[in-house]
Amino acid sequence: MDFDFTKEEKELIAEVRAFIDKEATPELLAETRQLGLIYGGPEGRKFIKKFASHGWLTPNWPKEYGGLGTSEMVTYLIREEMAYSGLPCIFVGAHMAGPAILRIGSPEMKKEFLTPLAKGEIEFALGYTEPQAGSDLVAMKVRADDQGDHFLVNGQKTFNTHCHVADYHWLAARTDPEAPKHKGISMMIVDLKSPGITIRPLITMAGWRTNEVYYDNVKVPKKNLVGEINKGFYYMMSALDFERMAPPGVYRNLFDEIVHYAKSTQAGGKPLSQNPLIRQKLAQMAIELDVARLLYYQLAYILDKGSIPNYQSSMEKLFVTELSQHITETGMEVLGLYGLLKEGSEWTPLAGKVEHFHRWSVVETIYAGTSEIQRSIIAQRGLGLPRQ
Ligand SMILES: Cc1cc2nc3c(=O)[nH]c(=O)nc-3n(C[C@H](O)[C@H](O)[C@H](O)COP(=O)(O)OP(=O)(O)OC[C@H]3O[C@@H](n4cnc5c(N)ncnc54)[C@H](O)[C@@H]3O)c2cc1C
Repeated sequence: MDFDFTKEEKELIAEVRAFIDKEATPELLAETRQLGLIYGGPEGRKFIKKFASHGWLTPNWPKEYGGLGTSEMVTYLIREEMAYSGLPCIFVGAHMAGPAILRIGSPEMKKEFLTPLAKGEIEFALGYTEPQAGSDLVAMKVRADDQGDHFLVNGQKTFNTHCHVADYHWLAARTDPEAPKHKGISMMIVDLKSPGITIRPLITMAGWRTNEVYYDNVKVPKKNLVGEINKGFYYMMSALDFERMAPPGVYRNLFDEIVHYAKSTQAGGKPLSQNPLIRQKLAQMAIELDVARLLYYQLAYILDKGSIPNYQSSMEKLFVTELSQHITETGMEVLGLYGLLKEGSEWTPLAGKVEHFHRWSVVETIYAGTSEIQRSIIAQRGLGLPRQ
């Protein structure tokens, strides 16, 4: 078995790397971190249009929709490079809604949304969670009532990240209140500028923003229904499998910086790199990071073989997000009391990244499904254990 990438893949990544080195300005990196690795700010939008003009945002999409028709592996390699460099790497349109539109969207819907998504001209935000429907998504209550040529949408969503900077909402709403709960939900695309939508901030402990979104008699044209009516729950589950495919690069980069710090810093007259506890912990993290990368690339491999990973996405999401907590905890231990200093302080090591990502890593194991939910999926779908 050959674990290496092909010559073409390596050449493409070198090209992407060179582009990133040139274009990743401090302003872009600061804005991206402040927004939570998304691209909706002015710097991010400027960058992504340039980046996407090479076909690098959606390389695996067909050429007719702005892709390059490459393997999934290429997409995964590029996303990992972006994540490692601290650039926007979470794209609801390119990586979650887009693949669903490709599979189940009408020809008109594909024409309207796919090319602008591939060019980085528009972006989506996920609209699943409601105050009483998080892990248990079938409990959602937002209603979309059929009014002939349009739906009339009413209700409240919560924790809908990106909405304040995105263009469209990838909305799950109840279209048949009488049907069994998972059979009465539909997916639709909503223009976030539609009259009747109010977006309010919810600030995470990492400082970036997610939102509450209120729908008050919002008209959504019927043509924006995704796939078949009342099949939305199944589409949502599939889009969630894609959402859970998180590139580990952000934390691989942080880890490399922590190792560099341990090598170059003295404490009590000795380099930190000679501290046996620190050495043990860093070695352990190095192993886990390699496992995370293999789990991540395995997802691309499965997609390239023509299947959609499901419990494997849960395994990867669970492993990477729990690893993010191990790495930032290790980072806090390596930095000692300096680890408490925030970005901007004169004495903050690594530009405050460890402190920042230490707070950030807490939410990693919640969004896109909590660790408990991922373990349940692995137990049921992966191991065939009975449902609880
Ligand atoms: C920062 C952030 C960003 C987010 N972004 C988005 C977004 O863009 N769009 C969107 O739609 N949603 C988003 N979410 C919502 C996220 O997906 C939910 O928060 C998550 O699915 C958990 O749902 P909940 O918060 O309602 O918790 P609950 O479902 O109420 O769970 C509470 C606790 O109970 C546990 N639990 C629940 N059910 C079970 C079970 N069956 N077995 C074992 N344990 C269980 C959970 O693991 C958790 O620990 C975001 C959340 C956060 C924190």
